[in-house]
Amino acid sequence: MDHQQILTQQQEYVATNTTRNISWRIEQLLRIKTLVQNNESELLAALHSDLGKPEQEAWITELSFISGEVDHVVKHLKKWCKPRKVKTPIIVQPGKSFIQAEPLGSVLIIGAWNYPLQLVFAPLIAVISAGNCAIIKPSELAPAVSNLIATLIPKYLDNKAFTVVEGAVQETTELLTLAFDHIMYTGNAGVGRIVMAAAAKHLTPVTLELGGKSPVFIDGSANIALTAQRLAWGKWLNAGQTCIAPDYILTTKDMIAPLVAELKAQIIAMFSTDPQQSASYGCIVNERHTERLSQYLDCGEIVHGGAFDIAAKYFEPTIIVNPELDSKVMNEEIFGPIFPIICVDDYSAAKQLICKADKPLAAYLFSSDKAQQQDWIDTISSGSQCINDVIMFNAVPGLPFGGVGPSGMGHYSGKSGFDNFSHLKSVLKRPFIKDLPVRFAPYSKLKLSLLRKIR
Ligand code: NAD
Repeated sequence: MDHQQILTQQQEYVATNTTRNISWRIEQLLRIKTLVQNNESELLAALHSDLGKPEQEAWITELSFISGEVDHVVKHLKKWCKPRKVKTPIIVQPGKSFIQAEPLGSVLIIGAWNYPLQLVFAPLIAVISAGNCAIIKPSELAPAVSNLIATLIPKYLDNKAFTVVEGAVQETTELLTLAFDHIMYTGNAGVGRIVMAAAAKHLTPVTLELGGKSPVFIDGSANIALTAQRLAWGKWLNAGQTCIAPDYILTTKDMIAPLVAELKAQIIAMFSTDPQQSASYGCIVNERHTERLSQYLDCGEIVHGGAFDIAAKYFEPTIIVNPELDSKVMNEEIFGPIFPIICVDDYSAAKQLICKADKPLAAYLFSSDKAQQQDWIDTISSGSQCINDVIMFNAVPGLPFGGVGPSGMGHYSGKSGFDNFSHLKSVLKRPFIKDLPVRFAPYSKLKLSLLRKIR
């Protein structure tokens, strides 16, 4: 079957109402959990082969993340599917108003390489929760995981509803010519524009999960040891290749020396003095990206790390102090283990810099000052935020995940994913009981004044 035939078959399948059935959705969701449980060692091996992912890291951020999302969705799905009552005004009484979520049809899911399992299955869980079918295109840059997904999905999920298409630019470009009912893309903003332009031809709605530079501000009231531990984990997780990784730090002059000392201590505590030999530290996805990262090293003073080995796809956890604001490292998403620290005068100077830049996917504040915490929440626009931590908002199943402005559009995770991949259809139901006559012509001053009163 060619791609168009697969899509047509999926759209016809949705039209049979099979996928609308809540028990079908729950069965498919639970099969995803079984797929992950039954194939844990193969999945961990594939993640290690593509990205050198340490077992514990892969388990937390990929396998258990997927199972946790299934549990959350299965627990709440019946409630989300129920009609949502809305108050009916007098002019349409007697009547009942409600919102009925309905499936969209077939969704194209285009995955990225950095969390190659999670970024396919978490969107798929949302797509299934809303009663849709999907064509899944994993990232070709994580080939072991892509192959395994292509082998496992047909064994576990309903083949009439889900198909995996492996491939790179050519295959994705071909898929993008088709009239899907929704496209869910995760990756860089350049390709995001290509996806959106292709979707526009069919007026297909899109969810774009993009990236950007997620800033950190640390003030003098922060607990520096805990701040450094949380930052070190979040920055060097997956060797810095996390879309919501803290990209750079802004802090005041007096904080730089103690912060650098604590971050160095954390690097050694987590990955030893030779991270290349550490079983807890991953590698860069390929030689091209390792080489790309090496070009950021001459942007400022390297106070820790800086070693790399392109052939081995290794890049040392690295700290750079005070790179120029117009340098490459401060103007591109780093997406690797380099942590720039920039000196600012105070909180408002940091805020000015952050607000001048594109709205990021995440923004992180470390401070005990309650008023400052509230100001951060009220005035910094970003996809998500953590106060006094990084990344962990993503471990809360009820919190929507998604960007704003250049960091993306649309949300998933839990109910936000259910809503994102549903059409929220408005329904008004009325009995055959006579209406208030004020609605109908012939119009009159009396009817108009009555209408004004009952509004
Ligand atoms: P990638 O190279 O895996 O590309 C993503 C997908 O786009 C792949 O499936 C690929 O086949 C496809 N693709 C690539 N070029 C294409 C083209 N010309 N036409 C059509 N399809 C094409 O991943 P990437 O873009 O290197 O991912 C890194 C970026 O993704 C970073 O900016 C990161 O922040 C962002 N990201 C965002 C999230 C999120 O959830 N918001 C998650 C992970 C990564």
